Amino acid sequence: MRAARVATGIYIHVPFCVSRCAYCDFFSTVPEDDSLKAAYGDRVVTHLSLELARMRAGDLVSLYLGGGSPSTMPPSFFTALGAALRNAGIEPAALEFTVEANPADLSARSLDLFAATGVNRLSLGVQAADDAVLAAMGRRATRATLKKILPPAREKFGDLSYDIIYGFGKRPRDLAAELAWLFDLAAPDHLSAYCYTRPHRRAAPPIAPEDTAIEEEEAIARFLTTRRFRRYEVSNWAQRGLESVHNRLYWSWDRYIGIGAGAHGFEPREGIRYRYPDSVAAFIRRPAPVVERLPRETLMREFTMLALRTAEGVPLAKFSRTFGISLPKLLSPVTRARFLDTGFARLSATRLRATNRGLSFLNTLTAAIFDDIERHERDHAG
Ligand code: SF4
Repeated sequence: MRAARVATGIYIHVPFCVSRCAYCDFFSTVPEDDSLKAAYGDRVVTHLSLELARMRAGDLVSLYLGGGSPSTMPPSFFTALGAALRNAGIEPAALEFTVEANPADLSARSLDLFAATGVNRLSLGVQAADDAVLAAMGRRATRATLKKILPPAREKFGDLSYDIIYGFGKRPRDLAAELAWLFDLAAPDHLSAYCYTRPHRRAAPPIAPEDTAIEEEEAIARFLTTRRFRRYEVSNWAQRGLESVHNRLYWSWDRYIGIGAGAHGFEPREGIRYRYPDSVAAFIRRPAPVVERLPRETLMREFTMLALRTAEGVPLAKFSRTFGISLPKLLSPVTRARFLDTGFARLSATRLRATNRGLSFLNTLTAAIFDDIERHERDHAG
């Protein structure tokens, strides 16, 4: 009998930026010249070819280039990437093939290059559409940059996504007006709205007061709802049918392969997570990930936490199949009374999910279920 298809995504981390943004906590460096990027790109493509050779045809559903700023890589990297896919018998058009890009790095030429490589989804780090906010964030793009690059990006790519940051800084912002301006310029199909978390650095910009962040989140939600976007995950909105295939792999407990310095991967069947150290030089020398076999209780928590972030919630049959236990049976009377009886969460025959109201209390709901999981595991230990 043929084994079932294992939907798999590949994430490639490109840890290079032209300059560091004030709010950023991702692993990335600003290289002094292009030779480091070229050596890194070569290693990434070699490693990608090895991973593709190990995979069964049809398993790969997504390739995602994140960073850092993948848009700063030389054209030869993209050409080699496209060739590696085709040499492995993979037609890029058959995948969701995403590249993250900083609008300040883009030009008509780079958009053409991505399209020729087979990229079919462009994810732009827009972050704000207010020049003072963009300057406070340390972004190189301004409204003038966005005005120049978003319309041709919209024209070139059938699937366009914007990242937006809210809850940032002390300056009042009109998020609805910023979004209206962006949508008039070039309406995306997908939008990720992240609440700013201040990195542990003295010089990092401040967060907005809590009620301001909530008001901004609500303004984003109201605006996107009028544009027929659906909130399919706590921070992610999309036109129906244009939800990110790649992001869904993370939340649905599917397999993903990480490639590059700082990238991590997950093998759900073995409960193994691995991560490459945050070192460009080490990855170029010899990619050697740190592998961790996760304890059962951690896996149960992660499965639940990730799925609860989505509109669909936790798939009960998959939970039972994976852990040999029914999630509803784990729920204590206290959790049921606090969240199910009050309408913050709903339990059907197939799913446990947070309601719209419950999404605002997701951390409390998740913590209560974690306690129930811990109690169950303790009571059934040995
Ligand atoms: S471009 Fe992106 S990865 Fe680079 S510093 Fe800015 S936010 Fe961080």
